[in-house]
Amino acid sequence: MSPVTHFLTGWVFANCFRLQRKERAIVTLACVAPDVDGLGIIPELLTRNSAHPLMWFSLYHHSLHNLAFALVVAAVAFALAAQEYKWKTGFLALLSFHLHLFEDVLGSRGPEGYQWPIPYLAPFSSALQLTWHGQWGLNAWQNITITIVLLLITFWLARRRGFSPLEMVSLRADHAFVAALRQRFSLRTAA
Ligand SMILES: [Zn+2]
Repeated sequence: MSPVTHFLTGWVFANCFRLQRKERAIVTLACVAPDVDGLGIIPELLTRNSAHPLMWFSLYHHSLHNLAFALVVAAVAFALAAQEYKWKTGFLALLSFHLHLFEDVLGSRGPEGYQWPIPYLAPFSSALQLTWHGQWGLNAWQNITITIVLLLITFWLARRRGFSPLEMVSLRADHAFVAALRQRFSLRTAA
């Protein structure tokens, strides 16, 4: 699935638990982290028509979709989290990362039909390649529906709890966004 879908998945997942702003961001980003290996798309597109194209995306996409990198991400999450949230954040980051892998197995078939198997035990073994025969395409209606539903949940959470993913960038922008949401959809259940 697309990084946007993964991001929203991570956000909604993080909001299922009692976390602080920083730890919420860590758990959310852990759900996007595997796609860092997709950044090779930029040099690849830029050099596509050159004499020496860099095939970094073709070569490395999905190379970080594995257990070893998941453990690295969990360790980083543990290190970055505040003292009383360390174990919780590390563990949730590990789960969040796996939600990403699960979503890719469900619906990341390429336009040419390639399934992008997930080399779960790479780089130590290539024995385990995760795929699902029912996998749908990257642009399939399922992904669009899932993304819209996650977006609606994100709005609902923002209106109700008073914060949105914007808190990762700017608290001011986040407050303005929540205020606008609450004004537009007046909060009748305000306690
Ligand atoms: Zn992915």
